[in-house]
Amino acid sequence: MKARVSGLHHITAIASDPRQNLDFYTRVLGLRFVKKSVNQDDPGTYHLYYGDYAASPGTILTFFPWTGLRRGRPGTGQAYATALSVPAKSLPFWQERFSKLDVPHQAVAHRFADKVLPFADPNGLRLELLATSEADPRPAVPAKDVPAGFAIRGFHSSTLALSDGTETARVLTDSMGLKLASQSGYRARYSAGSGGPGAYVDLLTDPALPRGLNGAGTIHHVAFRVPDESTQVAARDVLLKAGLSVSPVIDRAYFKSIYCREPGGVLFEIATDGPGFAIDEPLDQLGAILSLPPRLEPHRAAIEAALPKLG
Ligand code: ZN
Repeated sequence: MKARVSGLHHITAIASDPRQNLDFYTRVLGLRFVKKSVNQDDPGTYHLYYGDYAASPGTILTFFPWTGLRRGRPGTGQAYATALSVPAKSLPFWQERFSKLDVPHQAVAHRFADKVLPFADPNGLRLELLATSEADPRPAVPAKDVPAGFAIRGFHSSTLALSDGTETARVLTDSMGLKLASQSGYRARYSAGSGGPGAYVDLLTDPALPRGLNGAGTIHHVAFRVPDESTQVAARDVLLKAGLSVSPVIDRAYFKSIYCREPGGVLFEIATDGPGFAIDEPLDQLGAILSLPPRLEPHRAAIEAALPKLG
């Protein structure tokens, strides 16, 4: 029995200044600001969501920005880098854009059959633009200064850094149904569901990598997607039977979630595709209002007054 995980759902990272975070992901990268909410465990802090126009699963990057938080160190035991899918010939556009906007970036490298442009956000979060030769049928949404022909289409892959990938690989394949797709050097690629951009997880076991330390510029968790709640409950049973400690189902309003820490130390979440981000504001106005879970709604005035202004 294996869980039927179909790909990546969202990736959540830690940031410092929320205004800087909003500016980078919307203006520099051209993503859509799809939800302005608060950290449910710490409502004095934002939870900011970016994605494609429809906030589709597989495109959603989210952040907990704590103003003044010290930087962490990306390394083993963490989701180490996030690759975003861009059209095949778009990397020169992005190199020029990053140079013009002083975004730290590295030379284009080859990874399996594709080209990858590594760069960093203002907190040092490791990001990559991956120009894939595979078809990526997801709609490219144009943004100001980022024409559709160059626009980010969503996740390509998440790279997990591990000191030993054996147990993590076993969870991915034996419990979550991913398959080994490619392997080269210290990198092994696993593919979920029917594969393609947005369905890949790479395990990187380079012994030169340091141990990861949490803080600004590091990833908090990686969420995989399942089509519905019954698939999620079945996935929970599979993970429990494999001996992992799994949370109960938690209602996150836009999706339902379960969490478990995989043996390599990375926090995994499995989230449902629905109901989606248009349940509390119209699709054409996503991100316009501060969205609060019902239990925090009575405290809206105090929460809004305490949050830093975004612009
Ligand atoms: Zn999450």
